[in-house]
Amino acid sequence: MSGASWPALDRAHVWHPYTQHATAGDPIAIARASGAYLYDPTGRPILDAISSWWVTLHGHAHPVIAEAIAEQARTLDQVIFAGCTHEPAARLASELAGRLPAGLERIFFSDDGSTAVEVALKIALQYWRNRGTPRRRVAALEHAYHGDTFGAMSASGRGLFTAAFDQQLFAVDRLPAADGEVETALERLLADGGSDLAAVIVEPRLQGAGGMRVWSAESLRAVRRLTREHGVLLIADEVLTGFGRTGPLFATGGAEVVPDLICLSKGLTGGLLPLGVTAATNELFEAFAGADRRLTLFHGHSFTANPLACAAGRASLALLDEACAGRRAAIERAHRAGLARLDGHPRVRRPRVLGTMAAFDLDGGRGYLDPVGPRLTRFALDAGVLLRPLGDVVYLLPPYCVTPEELDSVYGVVARFLDTLDD
Ligand code: PLP
Repeated sequence: MSGASWPALDRAHVWHPYTQHATAGDPIAIARASGAYLYDPTGRPILDAISSWWVTLHGHAHPVIAEAIAEQARTLDQVIFAGCTHEPAARLASELAGRLPAGLERIFFSDDGSTAVEVALKIALQYWRNRGTPRRRVAALEHAYHGDTFGAMSASGRGLFTAAFDQQLFAVDRLPAADGEVETALERLLADGGSDLAAVIVEPRLQGAGGMRVWSAESLRAVRRLTREHGVLLIADEVLTGFGRTGPLFATGGAEVVPDLICLSKGLTGGLLPLGVTAATNELFEAFAGADRRLTLFHGHSFTANPLACAAGRASLALLDEACAGRRAAIERAHRAGLARLDGHPRVRRPRVLGTMAAFDLDGGRGYLDPVGPRLTRFALDAGVLLRPLGDVVYLLPPYCVTPEELDSVYGVVARFLDTLDD
């Protein structure tokens, strides 16, 4: 097949994520990308209104980040991170610690969002064991999504994505994901067996893959207050919400909450390379230090703290300045104007905006497998826009370089699609 076109090679050999190959049709072939746009092999532009699974932060192929990666590739490509270190990792760790909520000073590198969550769960559980007071349980929210590895799946809400593995997942205490209810349920849990609770894990302010559900800063603060009062660790999974997605640089910081652990990935490198981070307090770090080598965190990945990814991370972080905050505020305004246009349509339910994310539910929808999702994807693609609804939940999450006019045109596409649906 070596003479075949590359989309034909894909058809013959590639197994795509979250894809039902029997019905999905050919994937969209993308030849290059720049700013807010992807380009197919004919050069047709496609506006990336979902930041390529929420990773592209400032824009595709950002020249400053691309140059930082190229320069790093010529200098130091990769080195084992157990026993060795390098400048991009040390500087990125220090720069992250300087911008994260105060107190999160220790940076453990991994590969992606799921591994950042695995590391957080392992640190939390081993922390109690190392202290000589083991705790076995973890609490997590309904509708949570923390990734696709086994620990992350265990913490995630049980459903379609986890059904095939339910017997293998560890049990967690499930808290309702509703303002007011989450704190009441947590209070009850802590009163009744809380001494075995190692940690609570949440997606602060915005539950992403579970349906772009927004929850309040007040409830998040209540979860922090209760966990602190009972000496339970709080893990903030900011894999989606980090780096300005919800407006402030971090959703926890915006709510004036300091968790014990924060998971980061996606926008960490501006979306150019995979990298995960679990940031921890010094108190947690110290619990792993001692003459007894069994206290060690026995976790690592071949590409831990890859220098190219760390260089990209530093370049991306430097771009998160005042001007970028202004662009995010402009996106939020454009979302509000766009959603106002759609509000009142009989199929639009619960329109919501949080920073650079806007979403609504389709009335009468049938969840993640609702065929309306792929229909909207095809409709939008014909109009030159990339959208990938979570079934009957339609959302926009563009890169920060998108203009209000471009966003307005995306809302126009969504409005035209809604008019094709029966009431
Ligand atoms: N945590 C959250 C909140 C996420 O949204 C995701 C991915 O969407 C993950 C973890 C998993 O990240 P990854 O897909 O990089 O493994």
